[in-house]
Formats: sequence, C-alpha cells, structure tokens
Amino acid sequence: MKSTDSSSHISDVLALFRERGELTRTDVIDITGLSRSTVNQRLTALHESGLITPAGGGESTGGRPSSRFAFNAGRAVILAADIGASGFTVAVCDLAGAPVRHLIRQVNVWDGPVAVLQEVTDCIEQLRGESEVWGIGIGVPGPVEFRAGRVVNPPIMTGWDRFDIAGWFTSRYGVPVVVENDANARAVAESRLAQDDNLISLKLGTGIGSGLVFNGQIIRGSEGAAGDIGHTRAAIAEGGTPLACRCGNVGCVEAYAGGWALRRDLAELGIAVADTAGIVRLVADGDFEAVRLVRQAGRVLGDAVADLVSILNPGHIVISGQLAECDEVLLSGVRERIYQRTSPLATRNLRLRTSTLGEFAGVTGLALITADRILGPDSIDELVDSLAA
Ligand SMILES: [Zn+2]
Repeated sequence: MKSTDSSSHISDVLALFRERGELTRTDVIDITGLSRSTVNQRLTALHESGLITPAGGGESTGGRPSSRFAFNAGRAVILAADIGASGFTVAVCDLAGAPVRHLIRQVNVWDGPVAVLQEVTDCIEQLRGESEVWGIGIGVPGPVEFRAGRVVNPPIMTGWDRFDIAGWFTSRYGVPVVVENDANARAVAESRLAQDDNLISLKLGTGIGSGLVFNGQIIRGSEGAAGDIGHTRAAIAEGGTPLACRCGNVGCVEAYAGGWALRRDLAELGIAVADTAGIVRLVADGDFEAVRLVRQAGRVLGDAVADLVSILNPGHIVISGQLAECDEVLLSGVRERIYQRTSPLATRNLRLRTSTLGEFAGVTGLALITADRILGPDSIDELVDSLAA
C-alpha cells in the first residue's frame, strides 16, 4: 500500500474525470492547482492507458495536443454480483457502474456459499465474453469484514460465516475483488446518482437492509455491522409480546416490516402470498389488508429511521427493493413518522423517495466501489504501468 505523490496526483486527476465526465486541460490545472507540466504528464499517462479519451470540441488539429478529455468508462469492465436472500443479479458493468449485460437468478442463500457462488460463477462465464475484466464486486446480505472480503456473524446467511468470498473469485480470475454488504453498495450508487454525500438507503425485500453514506463515505462501524436498521428494536414491539425475527432475536423492525413478516401477517388473515412480489401485486390491486399492512410497515420503518435522521441529518432517504414498488402507500407511513419524531431543522431539506435505479442499484454500487479501489491512489500506478507495458 503505497501512496506516492505521483500516484495520488494521477488518481486525483482521474477522479475528477470520473466525477465530472468531460474537462479541458485548463479545467484540470485550475481545479487541482497542479502545474501545467504535471497535468500534461498525468493526462498523457491516462490517455495512453485509455482511461481518458479526447472529447468533442477540442480535437487535435495540426499536430497540437487535444485540450478536452472525457473519462472512458468503456475501457474495461467490472463484474458485479448482488446476492440477496432469495436471488442474485450478476452484471457486466462499465467503469462508471452502468450495467451493460445482466442475468437474474433465483437462489436460496441458505444453500451455503459453495452452491451460491458456483451459480454466480456460471452466470459470470455466460456474460463476460471477451471483455477485459479489471475487477469484481460481490454484494452479500450480511455484515462484511471489508478488508478481508468475508462475511462475519451474518444473521441470515447460515454457513457463510468467515467464508473467503474474495478468495473464491481471486483464485479464478486473478483481479482485485471487493466484497461489500449489499445495502452499503446500494447506498453508494444512490449517493453518487443523487450527488448527495449524506444519504440513507433502505432496501425492502424479503428482509430489510440499510446502508449509510455520510461525508461521502460508507459508515461501516468496527465490525461492519453499522446501520443495520432491520434488526434494531421496533418501537411497535414495546406494546405487546414482541414478534420473533428470523435472526433469532425478537422485536426487530424486520419482524414487523420485512416482506417475510408481511406474508406471515397476510397468511394469518387467510391471504396466501407466494413472495414479496405478490404483496406488491395485492397493493396495486387495492387489497384493503395488504395496503393497511404496507402502510403500517412504513410507520415501523419511519420510527426506526427517525432517530438516525435527527442524529445524522441526511439529505436523502432512498428506498429500493421490491416493496419500494408500493411507492406512496409505503412512503406515506415512513414520512408520517419521520416528521412526527424529528426536528424541523433535520428534515428541512430531507428528500424521501423511492430509487430510480431499482434492481440495478446493487450492481451499480458494487461496480463503483470496485472502480474506486482499482482506480484509487493505492492501485492506479500498478494499473497504468501494466497497461503501458
Ligand atoms: Zn432480527
């Protein structure tokens, strides 16, 4: 892990292009404060490695060097796999995180790491073709020890504890592998898209995942378990006998507002629903009980998030996952409780909405986090050198 002046300058200059798209030589000099000769060197290195390309308007004429460049997101690809409790999305993404090709598979995370990761690998083999792969990002629905690339004490991922997920892919593909909590990955994608460095992302599907990005960084905590709102105590649980959660605890937010909990409640009312998508269909059809339960789930979530809003003052709360398709039925309950329980100052500029990235939020975030690593100050020198060789 070295971070010499030159490598940090190269990654800083590249980061500008990744953030802003197109820039002129003069823009780069003005923004970075670097000398013209240093900027010229960096631009030449980035151009020769194909990471930036001359952009329209500033085409080189008469042998003069081009003055305008853009980030070349198509230079190589990142493979991303967003593994959820009951299915996964595998995508070939460009270096800006946009999915180019993808596959979605149903899978049961309880089948264990070998069975699930083998299926992910099969999908990667189907998708990657002749693409030049620079990195792999894997998202999992549990707490992750980020540096080691393993899940740690996952409440719902039986058999995955400390399994070397990064090693599985490194040994097969020989490229950098990032393992990240799925909700953190979504939070990064939403934060970049919204251009908001202070954002809470909630994923509502079978279970409840949450990711926090503040000051532009994922809040992980010391064990990678920070911000796991789904398994905090639900305010509603104080009223009676707390309901059992699938994590083994009782009274969790997820035991009242997760997709599996709503299916349990509907079943008790004699309404059989096969999966979370079935709940969404009932709400769309205006089923009274389903609407009531989803609105109630929104209130449970709103209660759970309200303290975080007061303490951290996010600019956005973005909800993704299948239940997000219930849209305003769900959001109204969340909004009601947040506004009841927080100060006007904390909510003055708060935007609460559903995700526009939908099911691709996870793979996009994973590709961005992986790109951050391989194009960051610790790795960019090695990459640029290997491309020049
Ligand atoms: Zn729980």
